[in-house]
Amino acid sequence: MKPAPFSYFRPASLDEALGLLRTHGDEAKALAGGQSLVPLMNFRLARPRFLVDLNRIEGLSEIRVHDRGVTLGAMVRQREVEQSRSIAERLPILSEAVELVGHPAIRNRGTVGGSLVHADPAAELPLLSIALGASFHIQSVREKRSVAASDFYQGYLATAIAPDELLIGVDLPLPPRGVGWCFTEVARRHGDFAIVAAAVLLGCNDDRKVSFARVALGGVGPVPVRIAEAEQIILGRKPGAELYRRAGDAAAQAVDPLTDIHASSGYRRQLAGVLVRRALNVAERRVGGGH
Ligand SMILES: Cc1cc2nc3c(=O)[nH]c(=O)nc-3n(C[C@H](O)[C@H](O)[C@H](O)COP(=O)(O)OP(=O)(O)OC[C@H]3O[C@@H](n4cnc5c(N)ncnc54)[C@H](O)[C@@H]3O)c2cc1C
Repeated sequence: MKPAPFSYFRPASLDEALGLLRTHGDEAKALAGGQSLVPLMNFRLARPRFLVDLNRIEGLSEIRVHDRGVTLGAMVRQREVEQSRSIAERLPILSEAVELVGHPAIRNRGTVGGSLVHADPAAELPLLSIALGASFHIQSVREKRSVAASDFYQGYLATAIAPDELLIGVDLPLPPRGVGWCFTEVARRHGDFAIVAAAVLLGCNDDRKVSFARVALGGVGPVPVRIAEAEQIILGRKPGAELYRRAGDAAAQAVDPLTDIHASSGYRRQLAGVLVRRALNVAERRVGGGH
């Protein structure tokens, strides 16, 4: 398949790119890694009249690991995240999540920003951004602003980004030290988008009671979601298999997935419960830094 005709711009600076987006509004699209946009254009499901290629702009490709978290420029390639040792040490759930994105060839081109803005409800990076409570940094000719992950995802493939705005980068806060983690999913084949994915963080205090809990699911609705019902069940209690089973059951009850060509609603609901239970078990083994 071939895309509909379009004009192609390759700006050398952020200002130039933002100016082009302001001029062409919703007839223009940013091009990052092209791993989602180009197939959509080839199938003519997307027909931008103007493409603004971000690949020549400097300053959008930095990975910074600091005391408060990990800051990623929008044009950081998914593969660079996967291969970063400092990320593996400080935020291992991010390494675990990104390894599940497609295949190496896709991660070589695909960017962090492209994945976050494309906003597939089963994609790994949007789900992790919800689990960690990320902040998205957005810029246009008009203004710079930051948006919490929970406000960024607004519906199926829909985000808070306006047509004249670019995502510049994302801040992923570090959970407290010693917190256990697990990112897991079920997909039909290795490298496919998940049918359901779960991201879990679990921390315990000195009394061996759960003091920090994050439970988030993707693939169970139009946007990735935190499951407060499951978090409330485990917070303040002694960790253990029975507690995780209850949290899994609560997660399954809390979601109302759609049936689509990949899976029925009931199957996704069942998977949600199983994945939360499994992820909590794995996260508990990693509390304190174990692998
Ligand atoms: C076979 C295959 C399997 C895949 N499997 C998975 C998977 O398992 N999990 C997963 O998460 N993804 C998967 N993907 C998608 C992949 O992760 C893409 O890289 C990602 O969805 C989009 O990133 P990109 O950099 O390629 O963005 P592009 O395709 O270039 O852009 C995607 C969208 O984001 C917009 N955009 C990009 N950057 C910005 C920015 N900085 N500011 C504003 N808007 C921007 C574009 O305009 C476009 O609308 C798969 C893709 C393929 C082809």
